[in-house]
Amino acid sequence: TNDNEWNELQNTLHRYVEGSKKETARGRVASYIPELAKAPHDALGISLMNGDGQTLMAGDCELRFTMQSISKVFTFILALMDRGEDAVFAKVGKEPTGDDFNSMLKLELVEPGIPFNPFINAGAIAITSMIAGRDADEKAERILQFLRRVSGNSGLAVKDEVYRSEYETAHRNRSLAYFLKDNGVLEDDVDRILDVYFRHCAVEVTCSDVAKMALVLAYGGVDPISGERLIPRRFVQITKTFMITCGMYNASGAFAIEVGLPAKSGVSGGILTLVPGRYGIGVVGPALNRKGNSVAGVHVLQQLSEHFDWSLF
Ligand code: GLN
Repeated sequence: TNDNEWNELQNTLHRYVEGSKKETARGRVASYIPELAKAPHDALGISLMNGDGQTLMAGDCELRFTMQSISKVFTFILALMDRGEDAVFAKVGKEPTGDDFNSMLKLELVEPGIPFNPFINAGAIAITSMIAGRDADEKAERILQFLRRVSGNSGLAVKDEVYRSEYETAHRNRSLAYFLKDNGVLEDDVDRILDVYFRHCAVEVTCSDVAKMALVLAYGGVDPISGERLIPRRFVQITKTFMITCGMYNASGAFAIEVGLPAKSGVSGGILTLVPGRYGIGVVGPALNRKGNSVAGVHVLQQLSEHFDWSLF
């Protein structure tokens, strides 16, 4: 039963983390945003939360990291809630690219020049431009409030050093955004949109915050602890599908084979994943593999999924 599984997890989770920690040596911490390079390269932490709100933690769970691309899950959901499905899919497609997350290669290829999906950088920038709000401050504040609500942590905030570090070095994201602007995809001024985008990428969390956010997705948009519906079910379904097809960048196919769970990673080494109807999971391991995913994080999820037979497939 699930109770037995929870007991086994409680007894063994730390061993899984110990077994995967050495994998960190095979990865590198992201440095294209200079502030991210300060993260500990040998860290690995995991937090699991069940529908009763019980939490299991192992490894470096106290490590604070910025959400980076994990935030794209929630800006996408908020854009769907603000604008509806038709408006959102007028600006982003529904297909994986097979290219790196910050690639420009395919921006011209889909009619009428819209990004392939909401999780690559170009797509996420287009999504950020659709968030309701009078100005950049209000948009960023609405995203932060939404993240606080889903995580149940009213203390979530933007880590200013990371925000500023990305702001000063994001030449590639700026060129993506100008390209989208020229294609008529962006609704607002490029600088204002990117300002909001850098801020939501820089929201600082722990594994347990991420586990709680994932738990709401695992329960179809209802917070199982309060019983409150936070996200319409249909939007959770769409989002989890993108997490399977695009959530781990151009390693999403391999992750679907080896782990088989909806997931979203970020360049700070975080991974949000979930076992539907059962657990929300947050992982952090700043050392990344060549595809930009936490090398030890993917390893520990692979081991857990195999042992507990979590794959959806
Ligand atoms: N803020 C990062 C960027 O735009 C997010 C990318 C990521 O986590 N993959 O480059």
